[in-house]
Amino acid sequence: MNFYYNRTKIVATMGPASAKKDVLIAMIQAGLNVCRLNFSHGKPEDHKKVVDIIREINAEYKTNVSILADLQGPKIRIGLVKDGGINLINGTRINITTNECIGDDNQIYITYPTFPQDVQANEIILLDDGKLQLKVIDTNRKDTVVCEVVHGGILTSRKGVNLPNTKVSIPSLTEDDLYNLQFALEWDLDWIGLSFVRTGQDIIDLKRIIRESGKSARVIAKVEKPEAIENIDDIIAATDGVMIARGDLGVEMPLEEVPLLQKMIARKCRDAAKPVIVATQMLESMITTPRPTRAEVNDVANSVLDGADAVMLSGETSVGEFPVIVIETMAKIVRNVEDLGYPFNAKKSENLDPAHPNFLSDNLCGSAVYLAEHTNAAGIVSMTTSGYTAFEISSYRPKAGTYIFTSNKQLLNALSLVWGVRAFYYDQLESTDQTITDVNEILKQEGHIRTGDVVINTAAVPISKQGKTNMLRVSVVE
Ligand code: PGA
Ligand code: MN
Repeated sequence: MNFYYNRTKIVATMGPASAKKDVLIAMIQAGLNVCRLNFSHGKPEDHKKVVDIIREINAEYKTNVSILADLQGPKIRIGLVKDGGINLINGTRINITTNECIGDDNQIYITYPTFPQDVQANEIILLDDGKLQLKVIDTNRKDTVVCEVVHGGILTSRKGVNLPNTKVSIPSLTEDDLYNLQFALEWDLDWIGLSFVRTGQDIIDLKRIIRESGKSARVIAKVEKPEAIENIDDIIAATDGVMIARGDLGVEMPLEEVPLLQKMIARKCRDAAKPVIVATQMLESMITTPRPTRAEVNDVANSVLDGADAVMLSGETSVGEFPVIVIETMAKIVRNVEDLGYPFNAKKSENLDPAHPNFLSDNLCGSAVYLAEHTNAAGIVSMTTSGYTAFEISSYRPKAGTYIFTSNKQLLNALSLVWGVRAFYYDQLESTDQTITDVNEILKQEGHIRTGDVVINTAAVPISKQGKTNMLRVSVVE
């Protein structure tokens, strides 16, 4: 079976439209690299079914599709509403209550127990990604907040609430998150996303729980709050990857700031060798139409040019009518930009700090990419156990293919999120010479490199020690 490999990776949110084996196989063939399980919706047992299907496909087709568990964090939602939707009319009043109920024209439930205490009159309440807007008239400081509808419309169940003016006092990992996290860890998922991250400490706390459970899942910080923008350097330093979560970011921050924030965050992530996902509304119109708008095509293409590691689909693949066509469309847009050549916004500076623990290996990775560029190499081929080398090489955005060999099975799938990286399982660690001969031969057999191609190999010598990358070799494939 043929699979299309793009360098900018594609993340797709799973849902009723896509969580079927035949549909998923077609999506993966079209270029899907990472499946996102949105723990804001669905029960753990439903997510587990999807995990099992993905693992079946990975085993049957020798693919490395990665799984990202997305925890909803301190996201605030309304509860269920009657008849599948209620119509909020401009100028009318509606109560928001902390007592669980089915919403109607009179009152709607909010999943924020101390909302009546934290909110002030005149603050703005945005519903459903900011599509509907309410204004706070009064609060009884107990269980009810009286609001006026500023921009009305149809409100359906469990829609998100954003409070751009309110100081929200919910912890970064809620009880729901801790509950869902246990499943994500038990199932050995590769990536764990945390929504509404506010500080680097939020990430450090999550990573401690993961470490204490003995698991190796990596963390994605979803940047979607003004506080996260203020603390962006600490967050990038603490995390393994970032999602530019434009849906909530564009509600919590002035919309017009989002394009430049995207460029700023993408640049910082690349300089720190942390993968960055651009998310939300990328091909939104394809939820119901088989062709995207021109603006959406531009958005995907420009995100590739901004240097995103991955572009993400949400409703387009979870509930949309065209889950396969949307991946094909996204892959075509990505490929057309990638055909221009590289690099797009590669890392600017190498590690110039001799006191940095990875000073030597970082510079070796940079040199590998430089050497590949100047010898027009077909591949940079690296061995890694921790994965560090893969992230580092990718951040220089090499034109040559980046082929990573590892005996770390979990890393194999996790690297599917990382720009340009293709990972292979390899566990024979007898000698460096033998390993390099082996891995180059595997790549040749699989058609990635050919006789006469220049190949750059990196490794850690002695190979048995699994130390830091310290060796660079250039050779011509026999
Ligand atoms: P969400 O995150 O889809 O979980 O809200 C993405 C975003 O806010 O853009
Ligand atoms: Mn969000």
